[in-house]
Amino acid sequence: MTRRIEIYDTTLRDGTQGERINFSAEDKCQIARQLDALGVDFIEGGWPGSNPRDMDFFEKARALKLEHARISAFGATRRRDSSCATDKSIQALLRAETPVVTIFGKSWLLHVTDALRISPEENLEIIADSVRYLAERVPYVVYDAEHFFDGYRDDPEYALATLRAAAAGNPQRIVLCDTNGGSLPADVRDVTARVVQEFGITIANNDPESIPAPASSFGLGIHCHNDGELAVANSLAAVAAGAIQVQGTINGYGERCGNANLCSVIPNLQLKLGYEVLGEGRLPHLRSTAHYVSELANMALDSRTAFVGDSAFAHKGGVHVSAVARNPRTYEHIDPEQVGNRRRVLVSDLAGRANLLAKATELNLQLEDEQAVLDELKRLENDGYEFEAAEASLELLIHKLRGVHQPYFELLGFRVIDEHRGALMPMSEATVKVKVGDFVEHTAATGTGPVNALDHALRRALEKFYPSLADVRLVDYKVRVTSSSLTGTASRVRVLITSTDGQNQWGTVGVSPNIVEASWRALVDAVEFKLVRDGAQFPARIKTSSTK
Ligand SMILES: [Zn+2]
Repeated sequence: MTRRIEIYDTTLRDGTQGERINFSAEDKCQIARQLDALGVDFIEGGWPGSNPRDMDFFEKARALKLEHARISAFGATRRRDSSCATDKSIQALLRAETPVVTIFGKSWLLHVTDALRISPEENLEIIADSVRYLAERVPYVVYDAEHFFDGYRDDPEYALATLRAAAAGNPQRIVLCDTNGGSLPADVRDVTARVVQEFGITIANNDPESIPAPASSFGLGIHCHNDGELAVANSLAAVAAGAIQVQGTINGYGERCGNANLCSVIPNLQLKLGYEVLGEGRLPHLRSTAHYVSELANMALDSRTAFVGDSAFAHKGGVHVSAVARNPRTYEHIDPEQVGNRRRVLVSDLAGRANLLAKATELNLQLEDEQAVLDELKRLENDGYEFEAAEASLELLIHKLRGVHQPYFELLGFRVIDEHRGALMPMSEATVKVKVGDFVEHTAATGTGPVNALDHALRRALEKFYPSLADVRLVDYKVRVTSSSLTGTASRVRVLITSTDGQNQWGTVGVSPNIVEASWRALVDAVEFKLVRDGAQFPARIKTSSTK
């Protein structure tokens, strides 16, 4: 029988303790739905005792109707001078009315004596009392042993005594936490193995419905932070030693350097180690989940992110590309589709014919005259164009060279005015004149800068003809001065724009000696690409007017 490993996601709690990560209660609901569709077992929604926004989420979460995942509320053991019945944090956990409650307690004597300033015995009482109180009132209780590995290094017997205290309260899971994130895989493995041995833990405890009877009937979990860049490795080491639950976050968001990245933990467990993790057919949702969460977090996902990043299966060198075309296993550790990713071929003048052909196949484009396309690419690259991050521009270019591109609009002219007066913030205003079918549209818009104003004016001019452009927005804008100019005269700038419509992202490029012109070219490609992808039609009223 394959061993099953549970996934406990804490993106909405530990993840939001990361710098610049903020989710509204509504964002949290959307993410919870997405995590449920991915097939995680637990979703830690927040700390109801710590802020009103988290309580708001738990109220909304009751209406979520999740298919598989259980929502968990997180909090601390009771305070030293109160009983569980009067402790604010414990009572807030009960008011959250979640099917699962997770509480953390202290395993490290340093924290007990220096931070809490209580006796070691009093700490054990607090742990046992808090776990027992909750286990009698909530269907499923998880105990997080905070700083367990540091505590164990300091005083192994005391660290184990805290687990015994928790186990006496009958929780379903006890989770060993590498809170400071500095442990090494071999230590995590050895310490986890010691706990497994000490408590006589067997993998049979893995049944989520199992009712704990004797103290040793809990299942073991692992919660790692990434301060030594080892959170994923440490999680896998704990699983190898007998842990059956892995806690982590999507994209590894979390305090300081983050938590164990579930987008790496899950495929490693499932594809490499053969554990049963997500349900049948769920793993291909991994990439879209990673991108969805990064979108809501407003944090661009690094393209080199393992498994789910845009570059994870991108091939550049000519030798690699031709080998991958023959057999993908030559340069790919897994089939990208298993995690919902895709193979990409990067076109650059380093490569040549094989790259271009592979790219055309990837984009489903037929090339009648590949030499003409190669010549044009070479010319543009000499001019400073770069298509690696601008696949949308490349696709449009190939359409244009094949003569199958139908322009959706024609530019008659644009003008940008920049103004900076006195102490006021600088302002830009752009006017754009375009022709759509027989209609001439002349629009003005303001913006925080010239490109922002141009983007607003262009989309305002076109939105009435192509309503889907309302969803498009810029997520990234980069400018480089190119050094490749053969003429040695005026330097050129290359503008790379990344756009999104909430579903997909695409990159476009423009090059010119003039930064506004270069930006304009990238903007126009961004808009045209969206229309081509949507298969947008010319609006009916234009068709009628042009057939008159
Ligand atoms: Zn944590």
